[in-house]
Amino acid sequence: MPRQPASTPVSAPNSAPASAPASTGHRTHPAGSGHASLRRANLSLVLRHLRDEGPCSRSDVADATGLHRATVSSLMAELIQRGLVREVGTARAGAIGRPRRAVALDGSHVGALGMEINVDYIAVHGVDLAGRVLVERRIAFDAMGEGPDRSLVELGRVARRAIAEMRRAGAAPGGIVVAVPGLVDIGPGVVTLAPNLGWDGLPLAERLRAELGGFRAPVGVDNDANLAALAEFTSGVAAGTPDMVYLTGEVGVGGGIIVGGRLLRGADGFSGEVGHLPVNPTGRRCGCGRTGCWETKVGLAALVRTATPHRAYESQVKHRVRPGAVPAPDPEERVKEISRALAAGEPRTLAAVAEVGRWLGLGGSILVNLFNPRVIVVGGYFARLAERLIPPAQAELERLVVAGPAARCRFLPSNLGFGAASRGAASMVADHIMDDPAAIGLAPAARTSNGN
Ligand SMILES: [Zn+2]
Repeated sequence: MPRQPASTPVSAPNSAPASAPASTGHRTHPAGSGHASLRRANLSLVLRHLRDEGPCSRSDVADATGLHRATVSSLMAELIQRGLVREVGTARAGAIGRPRRAVALDGSHVGALGMEINVDYIAVHGVDLAGRVLVERRIAFDAMGEGPDRSLVELGRVARRAIAEMRRAGAAPGGIVVAVPGLVDIGPGVVTLAPNLGWDGLPLAERLRAELGGFRAPVGVDNDANLAALAEFTSGVAAGTPDMVYLTGEVGVGGGIIVGGRLLRGADGFSGEVGHLPVNPTGRRCGCGRTGCWETKVGLAALVRTATPHRAYESQVKHRVRPGAVPAPDPEERVKEISRALAAGEPRTLAAVAEVGRWLGLGGSILVNLFNPRVIVVGGYFARLAERLIPPAQAELERLVVAGPAARCRFLPSNLGFGAASRGAASMVADHIMDDPAAIGLAPAARTSNGN
């Protein structure tokens, strides 16, 4: 499995003996004292060595990392205590080497919880560090209609249930990352602006931590498309493709851009807001307050509106901004309805999907001119309707891109479904644990007293 892409390498303060590996681009934890940060960097170094090389002896680790053997023993003791490493019998170094006790990464006691809150659902994806999926669920929830306070309560409820299930499976979460469709200041975990949720300056990480009471592991927030792009890069249909763009296909449309194997974040972390590319200056008003954004032509609401103009979808969207409104129909249900209409050859739906496909190709051509990706992976409803959407999108892309077919960029449907962002969020938590193993709680035996 390719390592996750990164925008910034982890700093290894006070010169850790070997260069630290790349991370997912989240800011690292505050440096703290020189000694503490050096120890953190060394814990990470040792843990990543075990992940990449498999079981080995302490002296093998010392030789490979350049750390003193006594230091490695001390680091191993802490990693064992935190439930991240276990003794696995013996390893023999070479034909003449004496058998030595070997240690290995033990992912089974530590979990990583990824969540996503989107316009009309909450998704969770909980894994242990060995990659076992412990919780995977998506529930319909009208986040836009309920407003931030009620959404936080519901997010907390869903998180508590997932944490309890993961603990029952033996893996206490060593962190949570929540995917949000909007601009996120990932340092403090503040949602700067999420137009389709109506959130503005929401300190989501702090609020969720408060909802979770005694949860002591790190809670982070990131953009949904960035996290989905990470999931695609590590385990999706275009895994390992160093230049790719991922497009969410929800009510809003976001982009995660991977260039040269690294997630592109930009100066403030706000890159990838492709849904608000102004493609139609005389068009409709967007959730962001501007006019003619790309998502007003290709978002799920645009498709439903075009396919079924006389049904009440649009007024439903407008009217459910009041708190306590009836939850909106599950997006899955809307997409199923459209799929059924397509299968039945319903002309208005066929025309609507073809038109959305052309707009998808038009916006895609801007991205190809800018980033020259090899693949544009489309998720959400785009993937579900790929058979009908991609042919017109691909034709329009090739017509409009300055390099034409020479750009060799293909639209590909994601196979990760609506869960891509929460899956990427879980893999980011796992990567954080690799970056800073000391940030998680102690091993299960020590953990039972504080509930974490
Ligand atoms: Zn917009």
